[in-house]
Amino acid sequence: MFNSSLKKTIFDLNSTLESLKERINNLEDENNRIHAILNSMVEGVIAVDKDTRVLSLNPTAESIFNIAPNNALGRIFLEVFPNNDIAEVIAQVLKKGEFISKELALIWPVQKVFQVNASPIFESKVVNGCLLVIHDISEIRRLETMRRDFVANVSHELKTPLTSIKGFVETLLEGGMEDKENSINFLRIINNHADRLNTLINDLLDLSHIESKEMVLKKEEFLLADLVDEVLSGFESQARKKGVEIKSNLPEGLEILADKGKIEQVFNNLIHNAVNYNKENGFVNIYSEQLIDKIKITIEDSGSGIPVKDIPRIFERFYRVDKARSRELGGTGLGLSIVKHIIELHSGSVGVESTEGSGSRFWFIIPYKTLLTFYLPLKQI
Ligand code: ADP
Repeated sequence: MFNSSLKKTIFDLNSTLESLKERINNLEDENNRIHAILNSMVEGVIAVDKDTRVLSLNPTAESIFNIAPNNALGRIFLEVFPNNDIAEVIAQVLKKGEFISKELALIWPVQKVFQVNASPIFESKVVNGCLLVIHDISEIRRLETMRRDFVANVSHELKTPLTSIKGFVETLLEGGMEDKENSINFLRIINNHADRLNTLINDLLDLSHIESKEMVLKKEEFLLADLVDEVLSGFESQARKKGVEIKSNLPEGLEILADKGKIEQVFNNLIHNAVNYNKENGFVNIYSEQLIDKIKITIEDSGSGIPVKDIPRIFERFYRVDKARSRELGGTGLGLSIVKHIIELHSGSVGVESTEGSGSRFWFIIPYKTLLTFYLPLKQI
């Protein structure tokens, strides 16, 4: 009798042990799954207890706040994350037990914008901690600002010539046509503004086409020096009027594989600027230099140069050193950003070195792999 009851107890203990083992295994699996999810999340996740001690955090949270791995656990939130705004959000959640979602700007360790979602952690219906999910929305905000600025810029650029056109047309309609000499003058001005609108719209269309994902480069082999000579012939009269001498020193046999029409546009825009922003009787020099696996092409001018503070922004859309001068010269402020986009589509890069008052050297580099052959010995290139 005793024996059989002992056997039953042992049997019961064994099955309890088995079910415990199974539960522990299940819990371990669950734990591993949660860890895997937390580790792969692009959002930073931080859990703190009711005293704001860090209970857990994932690698994204560590990298956002530049914290060494495992350095935060058990420490008070503010000790590890010196951010009063987030600490305030946690304090509110712990106090009210309600979910809070807030957009916060972080200045340190990096300048970023975050969407912080904070939820209370309940234990037996009492708030016992707070779970933060931190989403980096800096890129979204940056793109939104860019889009807003772009729309404002385009509207402004379109409005300026349109206002003038409307003003002169109204003057003509209100009797200005009787004065023949003046009306011809007005029509010339209207024509110039219409040309400006046309150039602006063409540049905008070019830019939107180049930026669109569907844009495919039509690559072909061509001789670079020949293309530049063709482009230069279009600048003869403009350069002559200003007494600017343009020289191309590109090697004869330099053949490249690229989108000819697009590279022509690059030269057009850069040479146009080099002549436009040049001084009377200045020069423009075009030359190339072979780098290890790339070719560098430079358009050097003896013009006004660019102030140091403007250089980092010069390739941005609509950025101009002297707006009035650019407009007067028929500029749209889009030429250099078109150049940058085209060269980047060719996996290349662009840049400028400039000294205010004495000239600029705009350059672009195309990777060597897009080049087919060099017929000239290296030292001559
Ligand atoms: P824009 O149509 O105004 O010329 P770009 O995008 O081609 O527009 O150039 C942007 C600005 O960069 C110009 O307004 C001018 O201030 C400056 N810039 C460009 N090229 C030169 C140059 N070669 N020399 C001096 N300034 C230049």
